[in-house]
Amino acid sequence: MKSKSLLLHFLTLYVLLAFFAGIVVPSLSVWLGATAFRNLQLQRIQADLENLGDTLTELYIEEGGVWNTNRVKDVLRPTPRWGGMTIILFDSENREIYRLRPLLLSANNTLGTETELITIKLGHDKIKNVGRLEIIRRLPSGRYERAFMAYLTRYNFFGALIMILAACGLGYIVAGKLSRPVIKALERTRNISRGEYASDEKFNLVGIRELDELTKGVEDLSRTLAGQEKLRRRLMVDVAHELKTPLTVAMTQIEAIADGILEPTPERLELCMNEMQRLGGLIENVVALTRLEGEALIINKEQTDMKKFLEPVIESFMPLFEKTGINFSSELDNNITCEIDANKFRNVIDNLLSNAQRYTNSGGSVKLRLYRVNDMALIEVSDTGIGIAEKDLPNIFERFYRTDESRTRITGGSGVGLAIVKASVVAHGGKISVTSKKDEGSTFTINLPVA
Ligand code: ADP
Repeated sequence: MKSKSLLLHFLTLYVLLAFFAGIVVPSLSVWLGATAFRNLQLQRIQADLENLGDTLTELYIEEGGVWNTNRVKDVLRPTPRWGGMTIILFDSENREIYRLRPLLLSANNTLGTETELITIKLGHDKIKNVGRLEIIRRLPSGRYERAFMAYLTRYNFFGALIMILAACGLGYIVAGKLSRPVIKALERTRNISRGEYASDEKFNLVGIRELDELTKGVEDLSRTLAGQEKLRRRLMVDVAHELKTPLTVAMTQIEAIADGILEPTPERLELCMNEMQRLGGLIENVVALTRLEGEALIINKEQTDMKKFLEPVIESFMPLFEKTGINFSSELDNNITCEIDANKFRNVIDNLLSNAQRYTNSGGSVKLRLYRVNDMALIEVSDTGIGIAEKDLPNIFERFYRTDESRTRITGGSGVGLAIVKASVVAHGGKISVTSKKDEGSTFTINLPVA
């Protein structure tokens, strides 16, 4: 089917409506009114004539079964002879007894040449068939009706014309209001399909729920895609940078050995092997990070009691803290419900607790707290570990960022955990922050809106 524009649809619809409201409906009501009025008139004439017939029958009986022309005349003469009526009385033998001619009425010009014959049988239950009345009636010419209709039609026509013009204007305004956001959404989706995700242009809300939701949906889509695209590019840069370092170190060593500048001692070869191992580890982390960051943006949130959610996490960490000689405690408030994706959020808490454990020495302590401030749930992981230097604090949520201290620590990771934690918390509509003092400890706090 060939599709027409919204504007054309609306114009057609409005003009049709105006046509019906301005021409069809008034014409129909005038015509129906006129027909009903004519029927009413006919019924009245019929009833009057039947009364007349009854009176004549009474007269016939009074006269002893004969027609007295003089008395018939007295009865018939005052009969109003609307419509130029000729009234003829026949006896039972079909002989004309009396004929009343029509008056030449001044209203004669309202009558046409067509006639109608109405026959009324005279008699009643006891004396049947005493004769009949024939009424010849000239039908109305319809001249005045036609003039009236023409008059109405003329005004209807002007009225309809104004309505159609107004309908066109209105159709144009409404269709414009409806089609503008749709056209913009269409343009934006076309841009998206060409790979141009980001756009500064904002949609104006039109106050129509479905359209506003559509445009908001398109805006969200382009924002998400732009975010993912940015992430992908940044990841490429980060990965290239990270991979280059161990590669350069190993290459320099191997080149020097090949050129005979350095001896291939077991220590040098081990150094190269370590760099290669780091390279392998990095590649694995890159794969994990790409998958997790992509997934972090897609979350299936459900209302969750945060205390009930955290308790099993604590349980599972207890043995590790005990083994490493760290005092692990928790303080969880009741009745705090948030909308979270339990799997993704479990990963967040796991990462924070695992960091706290790795960066805290034996004899230290780690605490997990859950409490509420206004309409925010706060989850706090604090430790008395090695802490983070002030210069590192702004960077620890960056991918692959590791403090010098953690690099020297055998338990250190690859610097991707907190990047994933942050992406996930943000995707949950929350925020994560950190306060830390070197050699004293760190506190990571997640702010999450309560449901
Ligand atoms: P990693 O796998 O290296 O731990 P993360 O992204 O989890 O990566 O953390 C980034 C860096 O932030 C770590 O390398 C470490 O230097 C620092 N860090 C994270 N958590 C803590 C903590 N609880 N105490 C001290 N330093 C921390």
